Amino acid sequence: MKGYAMLGIGKTGWIEKEMPRCGPLDAIVRPIAVAPCTSDVHTVWEGAIGEKHNLILGHEGVGEVVETGNLVKDFKKGDKVIIPAITPDWNSVQAQAGYSMHSGQMLGGWKFSNQKDGVFGEFFHVNDADGNLAILPEGMDPAAAAMLSDMIPTGLHGSELAQVQYGDTVCVIGIGPVGLMGVRGAVLKGASRLFAVGSRPNCINIAKEYGATDIINYKDGGILEQVMAKTNGAGVDRVIIAGGDNDTFAEAVRMLKPGGAIGNINYLGSGDYIKIPRLEWGVGMGHKMINGGLMPGGRLRMEKLADLVVSGRIDPAKLITHPFEGFEKIEEALMLMKDKPKDLIKPVVTIAW
Ligand code: NAD
Ligand code: ZN
Repeated sequence: MKGYAMLGIGKTGWIEKEMPRCGPLDAIVRPIAVAPCTSDVHTVWEGAIGEKHNLILGHEGVGEVVETGNLVKDFKKGDKVIIPAITPDWNSVQAQAGYSMHSGQMLGGWKFSNQKDGVFGEFFHVNDADGNLAILPEGMDPAAAAMLSDMIPTGLHGSELAQVQYGDTVCVIGIGPVGLMGVRGAVLKGASRLFAVGSRPNCINIAKEYGATDIINYKDGGILEQVMAKTNGAGVDRVIIAGGDNDTFAEAVRMLKPGGAIGNINYLGSGDYIKIPRLEWGVGMGHKMINGGLMPGGRLRMEKLADLVVSGRIDPAKLITHPFEGFEKIEEALMLMKDKPKDLIKPVVTIAW
């Protein structure tokens, strides 16, 4: 079969590979809509997971089941399914402890385009099919549904990690697709005032549509100063970080009220340490919680998040700025993600076989 792969750090191309093999609990799926992710860019061009050769990329997609293992109970050939980016081993002790995304090892639930080939192949393997697949709801557009693999669960996890409560003032730093879903998640969890920090006009417009009450353009000056000015020096109850770097992280600590929480879903790609400003962290006693996490995967969560789309509480189609058709367009879509033109939020490739 054919797949679009990382050939080595900084290099990608089409390769031929053996078909994946289906274990007793697994499924083999053929993609019908896939989306490249900022994480694919980190993997290939920033060497985020080290040197890899001929690793098929991609971890966001919707597909059709072509084969199931003999112990799979709830899915069968022909089912249209949503595939979460994170596919834990549900039998692991980490999953039993409530941290399925770290099954086996830290970040161990991240298998696609990391521990094994991803979804940019003509076929791909899904471990623990009953635990990890979700049926694509009747009538849902596969391209929009592809946002359920990673953008929706990760963005919403930001608001979980930041422990957003009714009436909270929340700041979301970085409003690419993940941060925009962070905005939507915080609004659904009851934020009263929501600062969205970003600069690109289409992202700002969508942030407003998702419920942001204030926009802070980080190109107009320090975000800390702007947030403090808008809150009369009080700061915010919650910060969701979905963009920026280690310095952004320090600013988040500064703008947080005592008793508040940071939910970091951003990938911190460089430096050995992250600085936490000592004074503003209450010299170690400020009750400012810092939580960072990988999105939880799994079927139950995917089904519930899909229900949010069906009920209209989340409209993921707004994120898709660059739709493509045809398997071979995966290359173009990924390159677009790498080059990030100003108007790009999310490319999606739909595939008719
Ligand atoms: P993106 O690059 O599209 O969005 C990030 C946004 O942050 C961009 O719009 C950028 O302009 C903005 N930004 C940069 N510097 C900033 C600053 N100082 N202040 C405010 N905004 C700033 O990326 P994305 O696809 O939305 O993903 C966001 C992050 O989430 C990435 O690091 C990605 O790797 C990570 N991610 C994490 C998980 C997870 O499970 N935790 C899953 C998927 C993606
Ligand atoms: Zn992703």
